[in-house]
Amino acid sequence: MTSQSHHDPEYLSGLASTFEVVPNEHPASDEQREAMIDKPAFGQLFSDSMVRMTWKQDGGWSDRKVEAYGPLKLDPAATVLHYAQEVFEGLKAYHHADGSIWLFRPDANAERFQNSSKRLALPALSTEDFLGSVAALVKQDAAWVPTRREYTLYLRPFMYASECYLGVRAPHQVDYCAIASPSGPYFPGGVKPVSIWVEDRWFRTGPGGTGFAKCGGNYAASLVGENRGAQHGCEQVCFVDAASGTYLEELGGMNMFTVHKDGHLETPSLTGTILPGVTRRSVIQLAQDEGHAVTETMIGLTDLLDDIRSGEVTEVFACGTAAIITPIGRFKSENFDETVADGGSGPLTMHLRDELLGIQLGEGEDPHNWMWRVC
Ligand SMILES: *Cc1c(COP(=O)(O)O)cnc(C)c1O
Repeated sequence: MTSQSHHDPEYLSGLASTFEVVPNEHPASDEQREAMIDKPAFGQLFSDSMVRMTWKQDGGWSDRKVEAYGPLKLDPAATVLHYAQEVFEGLKAYHHADGSIWLFRPDANAERFQNSSKRLALPALSTEDFLGSVAALVKQDAAWVPTRREYTLYLRPFMYASECYLGVRAPHQVDYCAIASPSGPYFPGGVKPVSIWVEDRWFRTGPGGTGFAKCGGNYAASLVGENRGAQHGCEQVCFVDAASGTYLEELGGMNMFTVHKDGHLETPSLTGTILPGVTRRSVIQLAQDEGHAVTETMIGLTDLLDDIRSGEVTEVFACGTAAIITPIGRFKSENFDETVADGGSGPLTMHLRDELLGIQLGEGEDPHNWMWRVC
């Protein structure tokens, strides 16, 4: 594949064509669909179709279909309900002004899905099948990709052990699905800095654990911390490392960056306990493109608080597919309450956000060939 070929919709179309389409016989009416797209309730409303595919140890992947969105049939003894072998991905389909529909670095999601699967002893899904499944869903439900600026179709591929067996071992049967939910801007009223609860009691993962895998279990483990943060009036929670409790790792579902007064950026290094975000990787590249040094390092909590107080750190932001880039205005715990600079949205934070969004929406150049055209 040449470096330009994924700007040609033929590539993803070819992969998508390996999935049989069985159209939904009762799709939403045009009016219903327009209403859902117009006022999306994130993760509560879904498009007409879904992808489904089954893997068996003796025979590999089969039953590759795009079919009507609907409930799954699951045996009560299905392994996932007992031992939580589940991994997922999150990416978006973007409408460009000329009517074309695109994905942002879906190959990176495919690769991460493989790494997550490996960690949970689930079978690997090839990059071609991952891309093909997502493209097939988006093509089938293209009318569900919102056209309004910053509105997208959020895609959620996932895989789980569906075998009926209470024994503990790597599964012999697995189901893969992909569903799609229209979504609006994360900050409908304009970008607003969030306050962060620094969680020092409950950890989402630990050394040798599943932190680098995008699996439901990490989220299950994060919820009591999320609740504590909410009780203290914070919108997001930052988890610290379980080994020492002194280094910042990431938010429940977003990576983190600090901006220093000399213009360099720092972000926690990928030690195995942190989810390697596609947005994180892209922000590092964009910042470097513009001449900012970016250091992947261990960020100590007390050092960060000192640097915020002294003005050494001028901006902090979080990043992930859902919110793109979110300014962080405040850090709070039982022992401190620290405002970053004036508590507003920092200039570099907002600049990087505009750059990234510009690429995703097709309004700016795509120098790294990150966008893949679906149709
Ligand atoms: C998905 C996720 C992120 C962000 O990853 P992106 O690829 O940038 O969306 C960060 N942290 C966690 C725990 C995640 O699950």
